[in-house]
Amino acid sequence: MKKHNFNAGPSILPRIAIENSAKAILDLNGSGLSLLEISHRHKDFQAIIDEAMALMKELMNIPDGYRVLFLGGGASTQFVMVPYNLLQTKAAYLETGAWAKKAIKEAKIFGQVDVVGSSADKNFSYIPKGYTIPSDADYFHITTNNTIFGTEIKYDMDSPVQLVADMSSDILSRPTDVSKYALIYGGAQKNLGPAGVTFVIIREDILGKVDRKIPSMLDYKIHINDGSMYNTPPCFAIFTCLETMRWIKGLGGVPVVHAMNMKKANLLYDAIDNSKMFVGTVAKEDRSLMNICFVMKEQYKDKEDAFMEFAKGKGMVGIKGHRSVGGFRASTYNALPLDSVQALIDCMHEFEKDNL
Ligand SMILES: *Cc1c(COP(=O)(O)O)cnc(C)c1O
Repeated sequence: MKKHNFNAGPSILPRIAIENSAKAILDLNGSGLSLLEISHRHKDFQAIIDEAMALMKELMNIPDGYRVLFLGGGASTQFVMVPYNLLQTKAAYLETGAWAKKAIKEAKIFGQVDVVGSSADKNFSYIPKGYTIPSDADYFHITTNNTIFGTEIKYDMDSPVQLVADMSSDILSRPTDVSKYALIYGGAQKNLGPAGVTFVIIREDILGKVDRKIPSMLDYKIHINDGSMYNTPPCFAIFTCLETMRWIKGLGGVPVVHAMNMKKANLLYDAIDNSKMFVGTVAKEDRSLMNICFVMKEQYKDKEDAFMEFAKGKGMVGIKGHRSVGGFRASTYNALPLDSVQALIDCMHEFEKDNL
Protein backbone atom coordinates (compact mmCIF):
# COMPACT_ATOMS: atom_id res chain seq x y z
CA MET A 1 0.00 0.00 0.00
CA LYS A 2 1.21 3.51 -0.78
CA LYS A 3 2.17 5.39 2.36
CA HIS A 4 1.25 9.02 2.79
CA ASN A 5 3.93 10.49 5.02
CA PHE A 6 2.63 13.30 7.24
CA ASN A 7 5.41 12.96 9.83
CA ALA A 8 6.31 16.17 11.69
CA GLY A 9 10.05 15.56 11.76
CA PRO A 10 12.17 13.88 10.70
CA SER A 11 9.81 13.92 7.80
CA ILE A 12 9.18 13.39 4.12
CA LEU A 13 11.93 14.32 1.66
CA PRO A 14 11.83 14.43 -2.14
CA ARG A 15 12.13 10.88 -3.47
CA ILE A 16 14.90 11.96 -5.83
CA ALA A 17 16.91 13.36 -2.91
CA ILE A 18 16.68 10.02 -1.14
CA GLU A 19 17.59 8.04 -4.25
CA ASN A 20 20.59 10.22 -5.05
CA SER A 21 21.70 10.07 -1.41
CA ALA A 22 21.51 6.29 -1.53
CA LYS A 23 23.63 6.28 -4.69
CA ALA A 24 26.21 8.59 -3.11
CA ILE A 25 26.44 6.26 -0.14
CA LEU A 26 27.28 3.38 -2.47
CA ASP A 27 29.57 5.29 -4.81
CA LEU A 28 30.21 9.02 -4.90
CA ASN A 29 30.66 10.39 -8.42
CA GLY A 30 32.02 7.08 -9.74
CA SER A 31 35.00 7.36 -7.37
CA GLY A 32 34.62 3.83 -6.04
CA LEU A 33 34.25 5.33 -2.56
CA SER A 34 31.20 6.02 -0.44
CA LEU A 35 30.27 9.54 0.59
CA LEU A 36 30.47 8.09 4.11
CA GLU A 37 34.13 7.14 3.87
CA ILE A 38 35.87 10.16 2.37
CA SER A 39 37.49 13.06 4.17
CA HIS A 40 35.49 16.23 4.60
CA ARG A 41 38.61 17.90 3.15
CA HIS A 42 38.34 15.85 -0.05
CA LYS A 43 37.68 18.00 -3.11
CA ASP A 44 34.47 16.07 -3.83
CA PHE A 45 33.05 16.98 -0.44
CA GLN A 46 34.29 20.56 -0.68
CA ALA A 47 32.31 20.80 -3.93
CA ILE A 48 29.20 19.48 -2.12
CA ILE A 49 29.31 21.97 0.76
CA ASP A 50 30.22 24.83 -1.60
CA GLU A 51 27.23 24.07 -3.80
CA ALA A 52 24.93 23.65 -0.78
CA MET A 53 25.93 27.10 0.51
CA ALA A 54 25.61 28.66 -2.94
CA LEU A 55 22.20 27.08 -3.59
CA MET A 56 20.88 28.25 -0.23
CA LYS A 57 22.01 31.78 -1.17
CA GLU A 58 20.46 31.50 -4.61
CA LEU A 59 17.12 29.96 -3.58
CA MET A 60 16.63 32.38 -0.68
CA ASN A 61 18.01 35.43 -2.47
CA ILE A 62 20.45 36.00 0.38
CA PRO A 63 22.04 39.47 0.12
CA ASP A 64 25.77 40.18 0.40
CA GLY A 65 27.11 40.33 3.94
CA TYR A 66 25.46 37.07 5.01
CA ARG A 67 27.07 33.67 5.46
CA VAL A 68 25.55 30.20 5.34
CA LEU A 69 26.72 27.57 7.83
CA PHE A 70 25.91 23.87 8.18
CA LEU A 71 26.56 22.88 11.80
CA GLY A 72 25.81 20.03 14.17
CA GLY A 73 23.83 20.16 17.38
CA GLY A 74 20.32 20.80 16.07
CA ALA A 75 18.19 23.88 16.45
CA SER A 76 18.40 23.28 20.20
CA THR A 77 22.10 24.21 20.17
CA GLN A 78 21.15 27.43 18.37
CA PHE A 79 18.93 28.24 21.36
CA VAL A 80 22.28 28.54 23.21
CA MET A 81 24.53 29.92 20.44
CA VAL A 82 22.23 32.84 19.67
CA PRO A 83 22.37 34.39 23.18
CA TYR A 84 25.99 33.32 23.70
CA ASN A 85 27.02 35.37 20.65
CA LEU A 86 24.45 38.18 20.67
CA LEU A 87 22.99 38.81 24.12
CA GLN A 88 24.97 41.50 25.94
CA THR A 89 22.31 42.80 28.35
CA LYS A 90 18.77 42.14 27.19
CA ALA A 91 16.91 40.21 24.50
CA ALA A 92 13.25 40.15 23.48
CA TYR A 93 11.45 36.88 22.70
CA LEU A 94 8.02 36.01 21.36
CA GLU A 95 6.56 33.01 23.18
CA THR A 96 4.60 31.08 20.56
CA GLY A 97 5.07 27.49 21.64
CA ALA A 98 7.21 24.75 23.10
CA TRP A 99 10.28 25.51 20.98
CA ALA A 100 10.10 29.24 21.76
CA LYS A 101 9.90 28.37 25.45
CA LYS A 102 13.04 26.28 25.19
CA ALA A 103 14.83 29.12 23.39
CA ILE A 104 13.75 31.54 26.15
CA LYS A 105 14.99 29.19 28.86
CA GLU A 106 18.48 29.10 27.36
CA ALA A 107 18.64 32.86 26.75
CA LYS A 108 17.92 33.51 30.44
CA ILE A 109 21.31 31.97 31.26
CA PHE A 110 23.00 34.91 29.51
CA GLY A 111 21.00 38.00 30.44
CA GLN A 112 17.65 39.66 30.81
CA VAL A 113 14.89 38.23 28.65
CA ASP A 114 11.73 40.22 27.90
CA VAL A 115 8.92 37.98 26.73
CA VAL A 116 7.10 40.68 24.76
CA GLY A 117 4.12 38.56 23.77
CA SER A 118 2.77 35.10 24.50
CA SER A 119 -0.08 32.93 23.35
CA ALA A 120 0.29 30.53 26.28
CA ASP A 121 -3.15 31.63 27.54
CA LYS A 122 -4.84 29.75 24.69
CA ASN A 123 -2.46 26.83 24.33
CA PHE A 124 -0.47 28.65 21.64
CA SER A 125 -3.33 28.54 19.14
CA TYR A 126 -2.58 32.00 17.74
CA ILE A 127 0.31 34.40 17.11
CA PRO A 128 0.39 37.29 19.62
CA LYS A 129 -0.23 40.73 18.13
CA GLY A 130 0.07 44.33 19.23
CA TYR A 131 3.17 43.78 21.35
CA THR A 132 6.05 46.21 21.60
CA ILE A 133 9.63 45.25 20.85
CA PRO A 134 11.93 47.25 23.16
CA SER A 135 14.34 49.33 21.08
CA ASP A 136 17.15 48.71 23.58
CA ALA A 137 17.05 44.92 23.19
CA ASP A 138 20.09 43.28 21.61
CA TYR A 139 17.78 41.26 19.38
CA PHE A 140 14.22 40.00 18.97
CA HIS A 141 13.72 36.25 18.63
CA ILE A 142 10.77 34.63 16.88
CA THR A 143 9.79 31.11 15.87
CA THR A 144 8.30 31.57 12.41
CA ASN A 145 6.53 28.22 12.32
CA ASN A 146 5.34 26.48 15.44
CA THR A 147 5.61 22.86 14.45
CA ILE A 148 3.69 21.47 17.41
CA PHE A 149 0.81 23.95 17.54
CA GLY A 150 0.38 24.70 13.83
CA THR A 151 0.72 28.49 13.85
CA GLU A 152 2.98 30.45 11.55
CA ILE A 153 4.25 33.99 11.11
CA LYS A 154 3.88 33.98 7.34
CA TYR A 155 5.42 37.38 6.65
CA ASP A 156 8.77 39.04 7.26
CA MET A 157 8.19 41.54 10.03
CA ASP A 158 9.83 44.87 10.63
CA SER A 159 11.75 44.94 13.89
CA PRO A 160 13.45 47.95 15.50
CA VAL A 161 16.24 45.61 16.63
CA GLN A 162 18.07 42.69 15.03
CA LEU A 163 15.59 39.98 14.15
CA VAL A 164 16.52 36.35 14.87
CA ALA A 165 14.29 33.56 13.59
CA ASP A 166 13.99 29.85 14.23
CA MET A 167 12.79 28.62 10.80
CA SER A 168 13.28 24.93 11.49
CA SER A 169 9.96 23.89 10.01
CA ASP A 170 9.26 26.48 7.32
CA ILE A 171 12.64 27.11 5.74
CA LEU A 172 12.37 27.31 1.95
CA SER A 173 8.58 26.94 2.12
CA ARG A 174 7.82 30.53 1.10
CA PRO A 175 9.77 33.46 -0.32
CA THR A 176 11.60 35.15 2.56
CA ASP A 177 13.09 38.63 2.63
CA VAL A 178 16.34 37.63 4.31
CA SER A 179 17.42 41.29 4.61
CA LYS A 180 14.87 41.69 7.44
CA TYR A 181 16.71 39.11 9.55
CA ALA A 182 20.08 39.26 11.28
CA LEU A 183 20.11 35.51 11.81
CA ILE A 184 17.98 32.58 10.63
CA TYR A 185 18.54 29.04 11.88
CA GLY A 186 16.92 25.67 12.07
CA GLY A 187 17.28 21.92 12.24
CA ALA A 188 17.22 20.50 8.71
CA GLN A 189 15.06 17.51 9.56
CA LYS A 190 11.66 19.12 8.99
CA ASN A 191 11.76 20.61 5.52
CA LEU A 192 15.30 20.39 4.18
CA GLY A 193 17.13 17.17 4.90
CA PRO A 194 17.79 14.38 7.36
CA ALA A 195 18.47 14.83 11.07
CA GLY A 196 22.00 15.80 12.04
CA VAL A 197 22.58 19.13 10.33
CA THR A 198 21.56 22.64 11.34
CA PHE A 199 21.49 25.54 8.90
CA VAL A 200 22.46 29.05 9.96
CA ILE A 201 22.13 32.16 7.79
CA ILE A 202 23.89 34.99 9.54
CA ARG A 203 24.71 38.61 8.81
CA GLU A 204 28.38 38.84 9.63
CA ASP A 205 28.37 42.36 11.07
CA ILE A 206 26.22 41.37 14.06
CA LEU A 207 29.12 39.43 15.60
CA GLY A 208 31.87 40.51 17.97
CA LYS A 209 29.68 42.77 20.13
CA VAL A 210 29.45 40.78 23.36
CA ASP A 211 32.07 40.91 26.12
CA ARG A 212 32.06 37.29 27.19
CA LYS A 213 34.47 34.61 26.02
CA ILE A 214 32.83 32.14 23.66
CA PRO A 215 33.87 28.47 23.43
CA SER A 216 35.10 27.75 19.90
CA MET A 217 32.39 25.28 18.96
CA LEU A 218 29.71 27.80 19.96
CA ASP A 219 31.34 30.79 18.27
CA TYR A 220 29.76 31.73 14.92
CA LYS A 221 32.92 33.62 13.95
CA ILE A 222 35.06 30.52 14.22
CA HIS A 223 32.66 28.53 12.05
CA ILE A 224 32.48 31.36 9.50
CA ASN A 225 36.26 31.72 9.34
CA ASP A 226 36.64 27.99 8.71
CA GLY A 227 33.96 27.83 6.04
CA SER A 228 31.72 25.71 8.26
CA MET A 229 34.54 23.17 8.62
CA TYR A 230 36.01 24.10 12.01
CA ASN A 231 35.21 20.54 12.95
CA THR A 232 33.98 17.66 10.81
CA PRO A 233 30.60 18.74 9.47
CA PRO A 234 27.69 16.30 9.10
CA CYS A 235 28.78 15.38 5.56
CA PHE A 236 26.02 12.96 4.65
CA ALA A 237 23.19 15.15 5.97
CA ILE A 238 24.59 18.14 4.06
CA PHE A 239 24.57 16.10 0.86
CA THR A 240 20.88 15.27 1.24
CA CYS A 241 20.10 18.96 1.94
CA LEU A 242 21.91 19.79 -1.29
CA GLU A 243 19.81 17.23 -3.14
CA THR A 244 16.61 18.73 -1.70
CA MET A 245 17.70 22.21 -2.79
CA ARG A 246 18.56 20.92 -6.29
CA TRP A 247 15.01 19.52 -6.41
CA ILE A 248 13.52 22.89 -5.39
CA LYS A 249 15.60 24.65 -8.02
CA GLY A 250 14.49 22.13 -10.63
CA LEU A 251 10.85 22.85 -9.82
CA GLY A 252 11.43 26.53 -10.47
CA GLY A 253 12.49 27.78 -7.04
CA VAL A 254 10.83 28.77 -3.79
CA PRO A 255 7.88 30.72 -5.29
CA VAL A 256 6.78 27.56 -7.14
CA VAL A 257 7.09 25.44 -4.00
CA HIS A 258 5.21 28.11 -2.06
CA ALA A 259 2.32 27.99 -4.53
CA MET A 260 2.21 24.19 -4.16
CA ASN A 261 2.25 24.54 -0.37
CA MET A 262 -0.64 27.01 -0.41
CA LYS A 263 -2.65 24.75 -2.65
CA LYS A 264 -2.12 21.76 -0.35
CA ALA A 265 -2.83 23.69 2.84
CA ASN A 266 -5.92 25.44 1.45
CA LEU A 267 -7.33 22.14 0.28
CA LEU A 268 -6.97 20.55 3.70
CA TYR A 269 -8.09 23.60 5.69
CA ASP A 270 -11.18 23.88 3.47
CA ALA A 271 -11.98 20.23 4.10
CA ILE A 272 -11.63 20.78 7.85
CA ASP A 273 -13.75 23.95 7.80
CA ASN A 274 -16.50 22.24 5.80
CA SER A 275 -16.51 19.15 7.96
CA LYS A 276 -19.26 18.28 10.42
CA MET A 277 -16.89 16.12 12.42
CA PHE A 278 -13.47 17.80 12.40
CA VAL A 279 -12.46 21.28 13.52
CA GLY A 280 -9.19 23.23 13.30
CA THR A 281 -7.38 24.22 16.50
CA VAL A 282 -5.72 27.43 15.30
CA ALA A 283 -6.89 31.04 14.71
CA LYS A 284 -7.54 31.18 10.96
CA GLU A 285 -5.23 34.09 10.14
CA ASP A 286 -2.31 32.37 11.89
CA ARG A 287 -2.67 28.92 10.38
CA SER A 288 0.54 27.22 9.33
CA LEU A 289 1.15 26.10 5.76
CA MET A 290 3.35 23.33 7.11
CA ASN A 291 1.65 21.74 10.12
CA ILE A 292 -2.12 21.48 10.00
CA CYS A 293 -3.67 20.73 13.38
CA PHE A 294 -7.26 19.58 13.85
CA VAL A 295 -9.35 17.64 16.33
CA MET A 296 -12.79 16.09 16.41
CA LYS A 297 -15.66 18.26 17.57
CA GLU A 298 -16.71 17.74 21.16
CA GLN A 299 -19.64 15.42 20.31
CA TYR A 300 -17.38 13.11 18.27
CA LYS A 301 -14.31 13.16 20.53
CA ASP A 302 -14.67 9.47 21.33
CA LYS A 303 -14.14 8.65 17.64
CA GLU A 304 -10.60 10.01 17.41
CA ASP A 305 -8.95 6.65 18.03
CA ALA A 306 -11.20 4.97 15.50
CA PHE A 307 -10.32 7.55 12.86
CA MET A 308 -6.63 7.08 13.59
CA GLU A 309 -6.99 3.34 12.98
CA PHE A 310 -9.08 3.91 9.86
CA ALA A 311 -6.57 6.38 8.43
CA LYS A 312 -3.70 4.02 9.20
CA GLY A 313 -5.48 1.36 7.21
CA LYS A 314 -5.55 3.74 4.26
CA GLY A 315 -1.79 4.34 4.39
CA MET A 316 -1.75 7.59 6.41
CA VAL A 317 1.43 7.90 8.47
CA GLY A 318 2.26 10.38 11.23
CA ILE A 319 -1.08 12.16 11.61
CA LYS A 320 -1.33 11.81 15.38
CA GLY A 321 -1.35 15.24 16.99
CA HIS A 322 1.34 16.19 19.49
CA ARG A 323 0.30 15.25 23.02
CA SER A 324 0.03 18.94 24.01
CA VAL A 325 -2.68 19.54 21.37
CA GLY A 326 -4.22 16.11 20.86
CA GLY A 327 -6.24 15.10 17.82
CA PHE A 328 -4.41 15.19 14.54
CA ARG A 329 -1.55 16.99 12.84
CA ALA A 330 -0.84 16.64 9.15
CA SER A 331 2.56 18.02 8.25
CA THR A 332 2.48 19.21 4.65
CA TYR A 333 6.14 19.99 4.06
CA ASN A 334 7.57 20.89 0.64
CA ALA A 335 8.11 17.27 -0.40
CA LEU A 336 4.58 16.07 0.45
CA PRO A 337 2.68 15.53 -2.80
CA LEU A 338 -0.77 16.99 -3.36
CA ASP A 339 -2.22 13.51 -3.83
CA SER A 340 -1.33 12.64 -0.23
CA VAL A 341 -3.40 15.59 0.96
CA GLN A 342 -6.23 14.47 -1.30
CA ALA A 343 -5.94 10.93 0.07
CA LEU A 344 -6.24 12.24 3.64
CA ILE A 345 -9.29 14.31 2.72
CA ASP A 346 -10.90 11.29 1.03
CA CYS A 347 -10.19 9.32 4.16
CA MET A 348 -11.88 11.99 6.33
CA HIS A 349 -14.93 12.06 4.05
CA GLU A 350 -15.27 8.32 4.02
CA PHE A 351 -15.00 8.12 7.80
CA GLU A 352 -17.57 10.89 8.25
CA LYS A 353 -20.00 9.17 5.92
CA ASP A 354 -19.90 6.01 8.04
CA ASN A 355 -19.78 7.63 11.47
CA LEU A 356 -21.90 10.77 11.54
C1 LIG B 1 12.05 20.48 15.72
C2 LIG B 1 12.21 21.91 16.09
C3 LIG B 1 13.26 22.34 16.92
C4 LIG B 1 14.26 21.38 17.55
O1 LIG B 1 15.18 20.99 16.62
P1 LIG B 1 16.38 20.01 17.01
O2 LIG B 1 17.16 19.98 15.74
O3 LIG B 1 15.78 18.70 17.39
O4 LIG B 1 17.14 20.61 18.13
C5 LIG B 1 13.36 23.69 17.18
N1 LIG B 1 12.49 24.58 16.68
C6 LIG B 1 11.47 24.19 15.89
C7 LIG B 1 10.52 25.22 15.36
C8 LIG B 1 11.30 22.85 15.58
O5 LIG B 1 10.28 22.47 14.79
